[in-house]
Amino acid sequence: MLEITQLRKTYRDKREQVYALDGIDLAVKKGEFLVLLGPSGCGKTTTLRSIAGLERPDEGEITIDGQPVYAAAQHIFVPPEKRPISMVFQSYAIWPHLSVYDNVALPLKVGHRRLEQEEREKRIKEVLALLGLESLADRKVTALSGGQQQRVSLARAIAQRPKVLLMDEPLSNLDYKLRVRLRSELKALMHQLELTTVYVTHDQEEALAMGDRIAVMNQGKLIQLGTPREIYQQPLTEFVARFIGEMNFISGTVRQIDQDEVHLETALGNLVGKVPKDGQRPVVGQKRTLGIRPTDIDMIPEQTAEARGDQVAGTIVSAQYLGESIDYTVQAGPITLQVKTHHRLVFQPNDCVTLQFDPKYAIVIEPDDETGWGKRHE
Ligand code: ADP
Ligand code: MG
Repeated sequence: MLEITQLRKTYRDKREQVYALDGIDLAVKKGEFLVLLGPSGCGKTTTLRSIAGLERPDEGEITIDGQPVYAAAQHIFVPPEKRPISMVFQSYAIWPHLSVYDNVALPLKVGHRRLEQEEREKRIKEVLALLGLESLADRKVTALSGGQQQRVSLARAIAQRPKVLLMDEPLSNLDYKLRVRLRSELKALMHQLELTTVYVTHDQEEALAMGDRIAVMNQGKLIQLGTPREIYQQPLTEFVARFIGEMNFISGTVRQIDQDEVHLETALGNLVGKVPKDGQRPVVGQKRTLGIRPTDIDMIPEQTAEARGDQVAGTIVSAQYLGESIDYTVQAGPITLQVKTHHRLVFQPNDCVTLQFDPKYAIVIEPDDETGWGKRHE
């Protein structure tokens, strides 16, 4: 439905060149809810604005439903108002002097999206009902809460029946509880409407909760594209692993490879992990990093440990009680590990423990500094 090929955009900031987009390739399927996730400044907004036509890239191509809206080589640049998209911004960008109804109506009164009065009224009624705004139709938008204002901006975007809906951190200005509620509402709504959506956020929890797929970006590059589960369980790089939650990293050297199990020699002895789907298979002798989530390390009192799997001896350094869970810092040889346990599993500082690493949940990835990711091309 939406295809982006080798998109590049450079800003000249005084004398410095900023590579805002450094060769982005991305294909969004019809009806898909795709989340663009990455730290501030990684190029999410520039990507979205390029799709919308609010930004003119330097190189590459963008097609919507098979029609190019931007193609550097053919000098094609379709202006924003002629692209079949609508956009929702973090700041709502609604007209403060107009009512809820008129905010939704205005784009349907002029230009390419103009509808005859009867059809327009029907469309607006439908959309206001869909977003639970009927009773507020005559209200000035300044007399609404933040959550309601964002609903108006969403209603306005949906009423235009875009082929692609673009949203740039639409929930960031709302408080946590409301954000969590709107998250699931919004996702259900987009699926109900079968609307192709590109949704930008820097919030990993939001991305995991909402995305059909997540595209993780860093420094103008797309690092990994996959389902929330793939991104969380099989990150391709240390950057992705760190950005989506927490992970322990243990560096080692590849000693043996059995099918998809990689044996690493590490400061904690031999540890076994798997190469993530889409990951590069290493060869014996290469440096690799074993990644394991704090929740995927089993911790048991030293004396009750049965010999099995990869076991490592450790000592509890500190504990942080978080209600549902407890975060432990554990010293294992020269390595400090984070282990998260159920709140009922209580250890004290200086307790000796046995840590078990399940190879199913340990991943073997390339150390970040060797992948070339995040480096800028000249
Ligand atoms: P994000 O939305 O992921 O936070 P942006 O797409 O806004 O990131 O920005 C990507 C990079 O481009 C950043 O380094 C930002 O400072 C830079 N940038 C964005 N817009 C401009 C501009 N108009 N002029 C100069 N640099 C810009
Ligand atoms: Mg942004």
